[in-house]
Amino acid sequence: MFCCYLSLCSHFIVPELGPRTKFSYASHKAVSEYKEAKALGIDTVPVLIGPVSYLLLSKPAKGVEKSFSLLSLLGSILPIYKEVVAELKAAGASWIQFDEPTLVKDLDAHELAAFSSAYAELESAVSGLNVLIETYFADIPAESYKTLTSLSGVTAYGFDLIRGAKTLDLIRSSFPSGKYLFAGVVDGRNIWADDLAASLSTLQSLEVVAGKDKLVVSTSCSLMHTAVDLVNETKLDDEIKSWLAFAAQKVVEVNALAKALAGQKDEAYFAANAAALASRKSSPRVTNEEVQKAAAALKGSDHRRATNVSARLDAQQKKLNLPILPTTTIGSFPQTVELRRVRREYKAKKISEEEYVSAIKEEISKVVKIQEELDIDVLVHGEPERNDMVEYFGEQLSGFAFTANGWVQSYGSRCVKPPIIYGDVSRPNPMTVFWSKTAQSMTSRPMKGMLTGPVTILNWSFVRNDQPRFETCYQIALAIKKEVEDLEAAGIQVIQIDEAALREGLPLRKSEHAFYLDWAVHSFRITNCGVQDTTQIHTHMCYSNFNDIIHSIIDMDADVITIENSRSDEKLLSVFREGVKYGAGIGPGVYDIHSPRIPTTEEIADRINKMLAVLDTNILWVNPDCGLKTRKYTEVKPALTNMVSATKLIRTQL
Ligand code: GLN
Ligand code: ZN
Repeated sequence: MFCCYLSLCSHFIVPELGPRTKFSYASHKAVSEYKEAKALGIDTVPVLIGPVSYLLLSKPAKGVEKSFSLLSLLGSILPIYKEVVAELKAAGASWIQFDEPTLVKDLDAHELAAFSSAYAELESAVSGLNVLIETYFADIPAESYKTLTSLSGVTAYGFDLIRGAKTLDLIRSSFPSGKYLFAGVVDGRNIWADDLAASLSTLQSLEVVAGKDKLVVSTSCSLMHTAVDLVNETKLDDEIKSWLAFAAQKVVEVNALAKALAGQKDEAYFAANAAALASRKSSPRVTNEEVQKAAAALKGSDHRRATNVSARLDAQQKKLNLPILPTTTIGSFPQTVELRRVRREYKAKKISEEEYVSAIKEEISKVVKIQEELDIDVLVHGEPERNDMVEYFGEQLSGFAFTANGWVQSYGSRCVKPPIIYGDVSRPNPMTVFWSKTAQSMTSRPMKGMLTGPVTILNWSFVRNDQPRFETCYQIALAIKKEVEDLEAAGIQVIQIDEAALREGLPLRKSEHAFYLDWAVHSFRITNCGVQDTTQIHTHMCYSNFNDIIHSIIDMDADVITIENSRSDEKLLSVFREGVKYGAGIGPGVYDIHSPRIPTTEEIADRINKMLAVLDTNILWVNPDCGLKTRKYTEVKPALTNMVSATKLIRTQL
């Protein structure tokens, strides 16, 4: 769900498999943890990723022939599953859960058949156990539902009834008799208190379908995507706290619902929940009529800059007078220990505003000097005042709350602390203008204003569940639009609006892509449709998989886009090779900032040449893959030196 900003654009690592991959039973973690809990008197349900999802979520290793099908490995992985199951059985497990989240995706008949054959193959191994297949994150398609509910050896099915509300209709129309139904009614991915009365009535209707003794109350998915425990929140006020439920509270909600179903409803608990919900609904902190009206007026209309991109680029070039293959960076410069200390001490009021401002100014001036020495064409201020590209803006927008300890695992040991959007979003004051103006005053080169775009702010926050996501996004877009216009009025000629997370918000189901992309791209355009032709709008996107959304990227109508590219074997370029016409400025990253490795001038030059083979010389920009926040100066300086040398070398050859 969230990009870990610390690791910047990394997301998750998946197994890379090939026709000769050999599986063996290596880690016995599932069994040893089951035993450990059992020794403490707790009989747990061991959870394993199901064999079909494991394969479908893996990727073919590099160099593997195109005809290789991941599912061809099913026969060699199932024996390992059998071994694990046998060991769990021997340890005394009575239930086992296989997560098969791929079942909510658009699967073809061949993929669906793999589920049937995999579970038929496992049937004898799991006999005597209750087997739960858990699905989550979206509606399950009708065909997949049919396959799922007729799998052999399976005794229970779990569904996400929050993100998969339509699945309810499928369950109501037919559910196999004698099987358990795990009803995921409590949202496992967000932080809002459940509407217990509504969930109870859903559950009561499902009791009729599955039978009283076969209905199990559950969260919609695992609780790893939500914050841990509300008791750790000392800074949130009581009113907002009463609207929330983190993982620990969700477990209590599930329990209360199960008890209520069993005829032991805790009336006081349900009444307190209803009161909290009512207070959230009517709170003036949530609703801002003016914002609601402005956002509603945006729907259905188109917001585009009046002039087309090539005419705009001409107008901008007259003003900016940039060399061919302009060089720039993505925004952040290394975040040193000293910088973090300054921000921490300012927040804790240990240093005065004056001291803080002067420390940040000094840092900006250092970053400006470095870039001038490197001879970079379009500069950045380095983002030293920002802890995080979403939190920094959220803290200055109304409608946002922040937790002290609401950490969520993003990737490996990396965690993020997403803001909570609880109310209508507005921007009381300019957020970045002071710093951008300060930075611009230090140089005669263009200084990029640096903003986070509405879709990224939305996708990296806990979002309200009382209005559609797009409405919240439009509200954020209007707030960012004001900032863009203030930056322009302050004399900033180049403004970058990062949409690092646009791609990751793409729904799992293809049928929902168009709708999402439409409002997401529209929100981006809203932020900058009002600027003059001569103001150059940049955007930046992380993650390499753009090929399927390239037309939406073009439709964002930015003047320049910088894109992560170096880790994807220049996959991006293949789109252009295949004939997609791109007329705006584009900077596919020329080196990977995720690695401490310093790229040589030759290899960067080689990369640029490859790009020039498919892109017009006058639209190509030269820049790293992403922000430099996590790198050290000892890495950044030589890498950028080589980037500029490579660019200059190629300029002489054009
Ligand atoms: N402007 C941000 C930075 O440079 C962009 C980060 C990102 O794409 N994740 O750090
Ligand atoms: Zn990035």
